[in-house]
Amino acid sequence: MLDVLVVGGGYVGLSAAVAIKQAAPHLAVEVVEAAPEDAWKRDPRASAIIAAATKMLDVFGLWGRIEPDAQPITRMIVTDSKTSDPVRPVFLTFDGAVEDGRPFAHMIPNVSMVAALRDACADRGIVIRHGLRATGFRDTGPSAELTLSDGSVIQARLVVACDGVRSRLRDLAGIRTVTWQYGQSGIVTTVEHERPHDGVAEEHFLPAGPFAILPLKGNRSSLVWTERTEDADRLVASDGLVFEAELERRFGHKLGTIRATPDRRAFPLGLTLARAFIAPRLALAGDAAHGIHPISGQGLNLGFKDVAALAETVVEADRLGLDIGSVNVLDRYQVWRRFDTFRMGVTTDVLNRLFSNDVTPIRVLRDLGLGVVDRIPGLKSYFIREAAGASGHNRPRLLGGQNI
Ligand SMILES: Cc1cc2nc3c(=O)[nH]c(=O)nc-3n(C[C@H](O)[C@H](O)[C@H](O)COP(=O)(O)OP(=O)(O)OC[C@H]3O[C@@H](n4cnc5c(N)ncnc54)[C@H](O)[C@@H]3O)c2cc1C
Repeated sequence: MLDVLVVGGGYVGLSAAVAIKQAAPHLAVEVVEAAPEDAWKRDPRASAIIAAATKMLDVFGLWGRIEPDAQPITRMIVTDSKTSDPVRPVFLTFDGAVEDGRPFAHMIPNVSMVAALRDACADRGIVIRHGLRATGFRDTGPSAELTLSDGSVIQARLVVACDGVRSRLRDLAGIRTVTWQYGQSGIVTTVEHERPHDGVAEEHFLPAGPFAILPLKGNRSSLVWTERTEDADRLVASDGLVFEAELERRFGHKLGTIRATPDRRAFPLGLTLARAFIAPRLALAGDAAHGIHPISGQGLNLGFKDVAALAETVVEADRLGLDIGSVNVLDRYQVWRRFDTFRMGVTTDVLNRLFSNDVTPIRVLRDLGLGVVDRIPGLKSYFIREAAGASGHNRPRLLGGQNI
């Protein structure tokens, strides 16, 4: 019987396995992943990863390896305008390091992060079983029984569901969600440009939703471009010229000539919050527990916070000789993470509704709000420390760069 079985070998699943195994090497930990072995190599995306999460990667011994591919975000500017406006007025700027000289976030290519996490699993003897889906889950009392798509059954004292926003395990455990769709999709692509970005990230609030330009290493930026779902699908399917013309209208000419790389995909956007994060012998983490709008680039970062809190909960319980899959133990994790998640879900929902429209009185009010935040340094530094995960008296140890 395994001690911990992680279902889902994405960023959150792999880091949960590494975090637990690193602090408690005697525990038997495995990962089950539905996708084939090298599917992750084809992900062209990059993610904004906050300072606190890079500290956790440091504790895993991975930051030194990822950092050469990671672009520090040195400054962030926020604008609010119509798509056709020739100038996008800046209402808010953030800059500077938050703590230990670290910038508040880095842009990290997904492949660099997953490659490092997979090697960390291999180094710690964590087996990843590929091409297998979890299809059944049963709490038998002393353990959980997980059925896989090949008919095999695995027993584990604790199952960690990291199987994404449409989590099958969440459904199998009977955990309900609060869910709605925004009717928007996020187009993700990479743009090459003539001039350097100097580490500046830009978030342009346009009537269809936020248009984010996020700096990558070299003269390249990653885009998260929000449109109504039917427009996004049309744009993604359009030929290169139409796509680049629409892109240029939004991107502007500040960085000189631009060229979009052919990889582009649209992700439908919604909000999904699990009503419970735990059940007997089961803990949800990452998007399985919460899928949020990418307006603030915090989805995966919330998942990393889950990992840090869950690993600390499980490892400390194990040290005390407690049953790591019992509801009594797992409740500490649920209490620890539920409020922060709910708050972030509500914040992203309100921000998206407030900024994804062109109603003049709302626009005036939101621009006033941005202006106020911009002029009060204390408030600004509070927001930036919050976004970087640098504040909070109850921060899990891994996020402060400490071992469990
Ligand atoms: C457009 C866009 C931009 C974003 N940008 C950012 C950003 O800049 N910063 C940020 O922090 N977040 C960002 N996010 C959010 C981030 O991508 C997600 O929060 C993150 O991918 C969640 O990771 P995860 O491991 O929980 O889930 P996933 O990445 O969805 O991984 C789930 C894994 O489980 C596997 N799986 C699924 N079902 C099963 C099953 N039954 N059995 C076994 N395996 C299974 C899947 O194959 C997959 O590998 C963005 C999201 C979008 C849509």
